[in-house]
Amino acid sequence: MPAFDIIVVGSGGGLDETNLSGYLVKPCEASWDDGIVALEAGSGHGALRHIMKRNPDIFGERPADEDPSKRITPFTVYSNVKCFLLTHAHLDHIGSLVMSAGTIGGGSKRIYGSPQTLRDLETVFSDRVWPRLATYDETNPLFRLVYHAIHADGKYKTIFPNISVRSMTISHGKNDSGLYESSCFFVKHIPTKHEFIFFGDVEPDSVAIKPKNISVWRAAAPKIPHDLSAVFIECSYPAGRPNEVLWGHLSPDHLVQEMITLATEVVLARKSSKSRAGLRPKKKQKRNPIPPEALHGVLTGLKVYIMHCKEHFSTERPINHVIGDQCRELLKPHNLGVELLTADQGMKIGELFPWLPIVGPTLDVC
Ligand SMILES: [Zn+2]
Ligand SMILES: [Zn+2]
Repeated sequence: MPAFDIIVVGSGGGLDETNLSGYLVKPCEASWDDGIVALEAGSGHGALRHIMKRNPDIFGERPADEDPSKRITPFTVYSNVKCFLLTHAHLDHIGSLVMSAGTIGGGSKRIYGSPQTLRDLETVFSDRVWPRLATYDETNPLFRLVYHAIHADGKYKTIFPNISVRSMTISHGKNDSGLYESSCFFVKHIPTKHEFIFFGDVEPDSVAIKPKNISVWRAAAPKIPHDLSAVFIECSYPAGRPNEVLWGHLSPDHLVQEMITLATEVVLARKSSKSRAGLRPKKKQKRNPIPPEALHGVLTGLKVYIMHCKEHFSTERPINHVIGDQCRELLKPHNLGVELLTADQGMKIGELFPWLPIVGPTLDVC
């Protein structure tokens, strides 16, 4: 069943400035010409130019005799962006939005983010770091970029025709001013109710001062896999990195723990729905810990896309493939049934539901 099309403009987490978080999203039934949601804006025009050189038909085949003035270019693609959706305002997630803010084509575009993300972005569009190119005033015709807060209030907000978003707050480490928060989005295709989860940078619950991932997994669990079959989550560092130097990010060891937590929540959600349906004895039972075998296959039908891997030019293979393999290796003994993929720059995901990668590595189920 159709849901979304996604093009990965960038999926890295630094230091390669040509491959930073940037995803173009549209509902499957619409055309790219009808409008696009830019989910994160680390890499943008420049990265897309290289992707389109390698794969000129990534937005669909065009007739050979097409009028050159109607040709799709990175500029026309970003002109068609109707809104930006930002998890937080670190530079690797906003860089291309900032660079293009004065020259981007098309009409007015909303910038959706948490109130804190927007306040942080204001410090960039401050007439100091960069000119003041965004406003909260929707009626001001002098500005093309309009801040629009999306609150973590449990509700879905329509941000684009047929797309609504629920935002949840997650922890991204701490700095001198305290805890640093990022956002996690449940992105819903309104006609089919199918969703995917997109995490901003996030630290493991086992390390966070205020663990918040558990709330995301609890919200997701009852929907897996039928209404929610894809999760995009960071795994910035390779395995074995000490907790003290995670800087608010995940490594494979922690990603595996998060997946086990998710699988546990799915088991609990299924039990509780059976109990609501009257299929369980009425007598109140003490909740027993869930044995590892009970998690086998629980995440079948779920695809997890690893992203935001921090480039290490010392490795021969792309770092996200190295980290992806480490995650698969660590997940395998748990036999959760999850399919683990890497989000690769230039990858197109979608067309059909459940999520079929059109370009990308073949997968193992772990
Ligand atoms: Zn980042
Ligand atoms: Zn960050």
